[in-house]
Amino acid sequence: MSKKIYVVGIGPGGYEQMTIRAASVLEKCDIIVGYTVYVDLIAEHFPGKEMLTTPMRQEEKRCRMAFEEAGKDRQVAMICSGDAGVYGMAGLIYEIGMDYPDVAVEIISGVTAALSGGAVLGAPLMHDFAVISLSDLLTKWELIEKRLAAAAAADMVICLYNPSSKKRKDYLNRACRIIMRYASPDTVCGVVRSIGREGEKYQIMTLAELADYGADMFTTVFIGNSTTRIINGKMVTPRGYSHKQKTGQE
Ligand code: SAH
Repeated sequence: MSKKIYVVGIGPGGYEQMTIRAASVLEKCDIIVGYTVYVDLIAEHFPGKEMLTTPMRQEEKRCRMAFEEAGKDRQVAMICSGDAGVYGMAGLIYEIGMDYPDVAVEIISGVTAALSGGAVLGAPLMHDFAVISLSDLLTKWELIEKRLAAAAAADMVICLYNPSSKKRKDYLNRACRIIMRYASPDTVCGVVRSIGREGEKYQIMTLAELADYGADMFTTVFIGNSTTRIINGKMVTPRGYSHKQKTGQE
């Protein structure tokens, strides 16, 4: 028997949003470990499977639990929402894994919120884009500001994760004000809440309106570049060449 941990991105929501590969790994593993909310999202599709849940903010404990289980010659799947390598647990698993050299690690990619949310809004990420988290739990706010300014100065589409929390109510407003140093207040923006989950909803607005929008931690935010526009009620960033050029017409 091999000692192995799969770190599985389950996508934004329930079962039908995960890859076939992710589902088959969860099918064949002995135990699924994860944050309670994610385990609840998928549990009914893996009846009889042993599940180990931990509350939020106990990432290191959750990783060690996974390694302890794998040490018992069991195949463990550690689940994360979206992709495990995007503000997820993949990196921490490798770091803690240094203490468990006999346990192999394999990462199973998932659909991150930028991509699933982008599809809900239309086609906002057709050209170069930057993904920035507004959480300053693990990153200094000064660095976050620097990255926001650099991305906005380069006219990138910007996708914001962790736009708010109870303690960080005004961070989205602060981010928008930094971006408005470089971008028009009329820039097309979008927000998507609870992607792939019950109550999913999206809204398209200007950058000035976004600055006053009350996003929460279940929301992903999209700020267009200078060419992003609204087509049929959806947020669309042109690919970088005009339709006329593409069809060969003048
Ligand atoms: N690993 C995850 C990201 C975790 S960080 C991924 O790849 O998607 C948590 C942030 O991701 C949230 O604050 C939110 O901005 C975004 N997010 C993750 N899942 C989401 C969902 N289902 N709906 C909306 N936003 C989501």
